[in-house]
Amino acid sequence: MNFPLEHRYYKYSYYLKNKFGEKVYKVPVNAGFTCPTRDGHLGTGGCIYCNNASFSPTDRDIKSIDEQIEAGIQRLQKRNIYKYLIYFQSYTNTYAPCQKLEKLYRKALDYKGVVGLCIGTRPDCVGKDVLSLLNNINQDTYISLEIGIESVYNKTLEWVRRGHDFQTTQAAIARIKEKNIHVSGHYILGFPTETKKEMLASAEKINRLQIDAIKLHHLHIVKNTKLAKIYKKSPFELFSAPEWINLIVEYLERLDAGIVIQRLMGDARGDTLIAPQWDMNKFQILSAIKDKLAARDSHQGGKAK
Ligand code: SF4
Repeated sequence: MNFPLEHRYYKYSYYLKNKFGEKVYKVPVNAGFTCPTRDGHLGTGGCIYCNNASFSPTDRDIKSIDEQIEAGIQRLQKRNIYKYLIYFQSYTNTYAPCQKLEKLYRKALDYKGVVGLCIGTRPDCVGKDVLSLLNNINQDTYISLEIGIESVYNKTLEWVRRGHDFQTTQAAIARIKEKNIHVSGHYILGFPTETKKEMLASAEKINRLQIDAIKLHHLHIVKNTKLAKIYKKSPFELFSAPEWINLIVEYLERLDAGIVIQRLMGDARGDTLIAPQWDMNKFQILSAIKDKLAARDSHQGGKAK
């Protein structure tokens, strides 16, 4: 086990502290990218659940990359944090010509205190040239590619109009891992296309992907999305906070203990969130998950296959 038993799961903060020797925080940036499901290449309007403004505070008021990085670093310095990962967060951050990508990534790495990059992208947007660029940069610094897996079930990927299937995800992650680049997967639990049994069973498929880290999100409905329209017309069941706590406890038990946990719930901005509205905050939910694992004398990976 890579984490102390009292943590009950492999916390991202614990991983970062061990890797970099001190606290490291992410500085999120919006570099003005788009996605193939938005620009007409694979569709328009994006994946049905997605509204970047719900999680990306810089989305409404895009400043230059330099301004965003400088402001982010200044904010963290006030909290005595001096090491940073620049997080290319909004939209698909490998979806541009390699020359443009290289310039952006290297510029971000030039800032004092920056120890690496986290790059959010889709499995179908890490082609040969992009991978070769990332591989070069990864030789001298830390890169974590954050890949939107979202579901291991093709019926769900079709329903949300991702524009790729799970086999594409498996192949992309295998290629990236061959280059020894850190991979974090984004995963959503709660789609009405999946039963609870299928959701829990997905942990086994996730374990086989050989990813290094994961962000687990509950499905929520945010404003200005196709999903909001679907939900308004025919509402479906979403997880309550206690149901989510129970599901995550069971999910963590099935997840390989070597996978770093970056998130255990979604975190939509309040003014964009339609449902579910929980009366527990993030801190209370995380603490309830930990307490429940302890009460079961259990931990991440306790039942992993
Ligand atoms: S979920 Fe990701 S790939 Fe889909 S539209 Fe949103 S940012 Fe683009």
